[in-house]
Amino acid sequence: MATIGFIGLGNMGGGMAANLAKAGHEVCAFDLAATALGRAVEAGCVRAGSARKAVAHADAVVTMLPAGAHVRQVYDESVLGAAPSNAILIDCSTIDLATARAVGGTADEQGYAMVDAPVSGGIAAAKAGTLTFMVGGTDTAFGRAQPILAAMGQAVIHAGASGAGQAAKIANNMLLGATMIATCEAFLLARKLGLDLQTFYDISSQASGQSWSMTSYCPVPGIGPESPADHDYQGGFAAALMLKDLKLAVGAAHDAGASVPMGSVAEALYQAFANNGGGALDFSAIIRMLEGETA
Ligand code: NAD
Repeated sequence: MATIGFIGLGNMGGGMAANLAKAGHEVCAFDLAATALGRAVEAGCVRAGSARKAVAHADAVVTMLPAGAHVRQVYDESVLGAAPSNAILIDCSTIDLATARAVGGTADEQGYAMVDAPVSGGIAAAKAGTLTFMVGGTDTAFGRAQPILAAMGQAVIHAGASGAGQAAKIANNMLLGATMIATCEAFLLARKLGLDLQTFYDISSQASGQSWSMTSYCPVPGIGPESPADHDYQGGFAAALMLKDLKLAVGAAHDAGASVPMGSVAEALYQAFANNGGGALDFSAIIRMLEGETA
């Protein structure tokens, strides 16, 4: 069993750190928020007085922070030079590609093995230990990170070199954002054209318009398997986080010279939805804005 320094114990990190402790690892945990740290200690983690103390004797360091600026700061001030040089460094946050590659490059220069390992799956999957990890880094670094990540997820996939995990995550979520909006539009159009929505689902879910947004996460209440639509769009994956990922995808596309017109429209629509007060709702609630209601 390993000693793991875990920094960032919020909605996602709290459940992930608890699963590492449950798997028998010693988890030295730190968060700026006392309540988040307290919950992690109740779940079996060891309280560290600072991020530097959390990583001081670590075999592995896991970070789960809001955005690139937090990751850059925590790595510069509290991980690089403070963690043992043979520790494997694993950043599970969803951050911009440029920062992911820059932090990975600095870690490499200082002799550390590091992977970016963002996740697919929300708060419930973090708690249940059923996340999917998309991992960027060398074969050796991936091999070292894999058993740690496996204790927190159901799938750990090597996406390629440093930054490839973030690239896979934002490309996937751009596709998800766009297909969710298209799925909402198709249901609203079907209704305006006089179709029964269950009948439209029965047809389209077995025809070429089928997608995960339709058959696993239907935005219409009472249709398909249970989804946030059946709970007034509470829980699930917040529209604000979808907007964050779309901004990262469109920004990365701009830097790489990739054409993403559908992604850009999805970003604009989720921005409008967030501006209308929908940011805290599940991202499938955008159907309300599309049908003319305010969030
Ligand atoms: P969160 O805001 O709930 O948690 C972030 C935690 O980091 C907070 O507890 C905060 O106090 C802590 N923190 C911030 N700066 C810190 C610092 N300098 N030192 C120590 N702790 C610090 O966010 P979350 O929902 O857990 O998301 C974390 C990451 O996971 C984000 O990058 C997000 O995009 C990604 N993600 C979230 C979800 C989701 O459904 N919530 C799903 C997939 C990916």
